[in-house]
Amino acid sequence: QNARTQKFKSTCSYCGVGCGVIVEKNAKGQIKVTGDESHPSNKGMLCSKGMNLHYTVADQSDRLLYPEMRWARNQPRRRVDWDTALERASAVFGTFIDKHGPDSVGFYVSGQCLTEEYYTVNKLAKGFVGTNNIDTNSRLCMSSAVAGYKKTLGEDSVPISYEDIELANCFFIAGANPAWCHPIIFRRIEAHKEKHPDVKVIVADPRKTQSCSIADLHLQLNPGTDTTLFQAIARCLIEDGRIDESFVEDHTDGFDELKMQVMAQPLREAAKICGLKVQEIKQAARWIGDANGYISMWAMGLNQSVDGTEKNLALINLSLITGQIGKPGAGPFSLTGQPNAMGGREVGGMASLLSAHRDLSNPAHRREVADRWGVSSVPAEPGYTATEMFDALRSGAMKAIWIICTNPVVSMPHSAIVEEALEEARFVVVQDISQNSETTDYADLLLPAAGYLEKEGTMTNSERRISYLNKVVDPPGEALPDAEILCRFARKMGYSGFDFEDAAAIFSEHCKLTEGTNIDISGLSYEYLKQNGTVQWPFLNESEEGTRRLFTDHQFYTPNGRAQIHTRGEKRPERPGEDHPFVLTTGRIRDQWHTMTRTGKVSRLNQHIEQPYVEIHPKDAKEYGIRDGEVVQVSNDRGEVRLNASFSDGIKRGMLFIPMHWGKVLQKDYPRANNLTSDRIDPVSKEPDFKYSSVAITKF
Ligand code: SF4
Repeated sequence: QNARTQKFKSTCSYCGVGCGVIVEKNAKGQIKVTGDESHPSNKGMLCSKGMNLHYTVADQSDRLLYPEMRWARNQPRRRVDWDTALERASAVFGTFIDKHGPDSVGFYVSGQCLTEEYYTVNKLAKGFVGTNNIDTNSRLCMSSAVAGYKKTLGEDSVPISYEDIELANCFFIAGANPAWCHPIIFRRIEAHKEKHPDVKVIVADPRKTQSCSIADLHLQLNPGTDTTLFQAIARCLIEDGRIDESFVEDHTDGFDELKMQVMAQPLREAAKICGLKVQEIKQAARWIGDANGYISMWAMGLNQSVDGTEKNLALINLSLITGQIGKPGAGPFSLTGQPNAMGGREVGGMASLLSAHRDLSNPAHRREVADRWGVSSVPAEPGYTATEMFDALRSGAMKAIWIICTNPVVSMPHSAIVEEALEEARFVVVQDISQNSETTDYADLLLPAAGYLEKEGTMTNSERRISYLNKVVDPPGEALPDAEILCRFARKMGYSGFDFEDAAAIFSEHCKLTEGTNIDISGLSYEYLKQNGTVQWPFLNESEEGTRRLFTDHQFYTPNGRAQIHTRGEKRPERPGEDHPFVLTTGRIRDQWHTMTRTGKVSRLNQHIEQPYVEIHPKDAKEYGIRDGEVVQVSNDRGEVRLNASFSDGIKRGMLFIPMHWGKVLQKDYPRANNLTSDRIDPVSKEPDFKYSSVAITKF
């Protein structure tokens, strides 16, 4: 190895698994990324996206290098200096706030943001602008899990560590395809099962995904019937005496109501609704009930639904009634989508949250945060959530939006509404690394941000593990770290409290604010992370090593310390009708990330699946005279897309699947799945339903 090669520790910037990486920079400034063998989350392993991280860092072809601004929509944007850009932003935001109130502006950010960036924008909006209109694209993936955890366990808290995977002997993977979307977690399960063939894996998914390769039982249920399935399993567990009665009695509330509800639905009826055999449901219940260590895992298949919160509650119920929580190899484990969705939640960076898991509706909690920030108050009412924010722009209730590190024109549901909203908005700020994402088209002010490895900061992965990310290279042109841009804007607005010396100072303020909460990391610092590596919260002081497993004392974060078992309500998704007889579901493919603004630039990653496609069962295709590979049109009242049909007998009949990644500018007018998706949202979590939209398919 060249003596001038430098090594840095960092974390992969794609998914919530949060794999540790070693970044090597040689004398020419070239970057190489390998897995960090000392990192407990991935032990040196990386998936295809992680292994190719350095290509996305090396490719600077689309980088935004200078601030750009336009004075009117019919004029082109022109390069300006940072002072001019931020003075204009503060003048426009200040005017709207004075004339129409603080809720006339909002910030839409990203689970890709570092914790320090999330912290700064949250403090800026809630403490100083005076609005809770700060939401994030994590709303699109995690908010139903947040609601599920809060309602059952009292706080948004993942109970387990990845090391529990090697201690479990039954996995129930529901509405997730970790083989493609959380590959390192999947590899850990796969290796564990290889070593211990008696380990059982149950997968519930309307599609036969790659994750089914290790499944002992694939419950190929009808779309949208997850809650019915989980309740039917609960019924079997109760009927067969496979529940932990003393745990239920001593540590939970709500069991009797659940029992009454699940016993009221005959198993045969539930099986029919789900499109499953009674025996399949009974088998799943037997393996869950007989397990020494039972882990449930879920992701967007449950969360992205009008019933997302209820699906979470019904699945978590299975862990509670079997007492499979707070012990080795057991617990309900929500698979976080983005690398720092959890860090964002910790700082309270959503419209309905308050810093460090405090309760926005609690006046004492708001007072505490306001005092720490040195402001008179924090607004009590939740702000606009992701989809509500764009609705508010359309209706004129919101005048200006500041979009950071996300591409809503491709990633939000019902794209036509998002485009209309950005056209209607009086002022759009886009802060990004790329100059040609689909959303930058709408920017009145475009601000160049530093990208991955170009700034320091922290992230929290799916197992509550906080890691420090080194700065390895300088950002190009005049690009600045996101937190620095926000602090400069705040100072232009005349706000105090944004004179942070560096990112470490922001992190330190965040850590202090967690004191006395369930995520207490008041003992943590950059110094500690740099010297000792990662830690799992809570982490009260340096004499402790962090917390691997929550609820080992069976004391939950609810007011009475007991976990809450919930029954289901009545919400149903839209049903296919004669005009739109198919159910469309969307999702990810193995080698792409989000809207492909980074992974789409890597030819190796594009080789796995080169084109967007619509997956259809061959028997359905035959009925419509569609041949494999030919161009078809998928449409509904919201829009249409044209793409190639791809036959798969692994998809349930009556369903179609389109990957969510392809947009329209970068990928040469390729279609967006979100032209078709429903903008209906879960009433509790406000998460949109990307998994159940009625569509028609025709030959083109
Ligand atoms: Fe990165 Fe996720 Fe792959 Fe790990 S599993 S290397 S965090 S994309």
